[in-house]
Amino acid sequence: MSRFFSDKYAELKAYVPGEQPKKQQYIKLNTNENPFPPHPAVVKAAREAAGKLELYPEPECTELRETLAGRLGVSPDELIMTNGSDEILNFAFMAFCDRHIPAVFADITYGFYPVYGQINLVPYREIPLQEDLTIRIKDYFQSAGTIFIANPNAPTGIALRRDEIAEILQQNPYNVVVVDEAYVDFGAESCVPLIREYDNLLVTQTFSKSRSMAGARLGFGVANPEIIRDLKTIQYSTNPYNIDRMTMATGIACLQNDEYNMENCRTIMTTRERTRDALEKLGFEVTPSKTNFLFARHPDISGEELYLKLKERGILIRHFSVERIKDYNRITIGSQEDMETVVRVIGELVASDK
Ligand code: PMP
Repeated sequence: MSRFFSDKYAELKAYVPGEQPKKQQYIKLNTNENPFPPHPAVVKAAREAAGKLELYPEPECTELRETLAGRLGVSPDELIMTNGSDEILNFAFMAFCDRHIPAVFADITYGFYPVYGQINLVPYREIPLQEDLTIRIKDYFQSAGTIFIANPNAPTGIALRRDEIAEILQQNPYNVVVVDEAYVDFGAESCVPLIREYDNLLVTQTFSKSRSMAGARLGFGVANPEIIRDLKTIQYSTNPYNIDRMTMATGIACLQNDEYNMENCRTIMTTRERTRDALEKLGFEVTPSKTNFLFARHPDISGEELYLKLKERGILIRHFSVERIKDYNRITIGSQEDMETVVRVIGELVASDK
């Protein structure tokens, strides 16, 4: 830290993203990326947009919002586009939390939430998940703060049903409830159909996982037009040109070929269930995931040891050194072939550890 760094950030602990190794070739299952490349039309759109990089992009993302609105069955003024969904989550902390309105989220959830709390100088309350790592919805009733729920949750992969989230919304008429649906396309129920019923709901989603565009940084929020206007005030007060030309063009092309993405999601879900069966046969306890990853622990091998031994063997998964979940690892679902390799190597490690 330099002697110039503001005191207000003395305690700030930055988010630590999963490794993105450059030198060694790994089977990379640590950051929940999609194993399939984007649709060829997406690559073509990026190339074409690159020819106009001397011009600023259009801050309203009109065509992209119209295309997405058609896909989701909402109106374009119920949408805001952001630089990954990380940006909209930060916008939500800026817009709907302050000294008097704390953020409220689970103790085990997306690790960026506490960081957003800290950087925005917003107090936050962490609500413990139950023993089985599920959310008890009653813990979120009358919460006196802005609620952030990753649904499905990360890194557990466990989802609440839409009617359960609706109950939380009903029980918090004076607070915004942000439902972070980064992984929703892998088998969970989206809350987008609830936005007209609940004016306190903000749903966030991303193109990073189900749409194979993590490298483009495209996310969005869906809510009633007033909430969207608040978020746009934050956008225009921080970075009006938050979506670059290439990302905007690729987003449109991606949505025009969304059946390709949804088919890939179905393949990933099939691979996920096969991998789960195989891991359970090896003695793992695996949470019921509705995402593109599995969260698993084994009685005989510690989470950290498994992570390190797999890394030595060229397989990268994610281990969190957090007390409550230190026995677990989060394993992204890659191609069927990669997952067969991973299961074989894990099987060897488990056998040699006995
Ligand atoms: N929410 C959750 C639960 C996530 O795991 C992630 C990915 N790290 C994000 C949001 C943000 O993803 P992105 O910024 O790529 O949209």
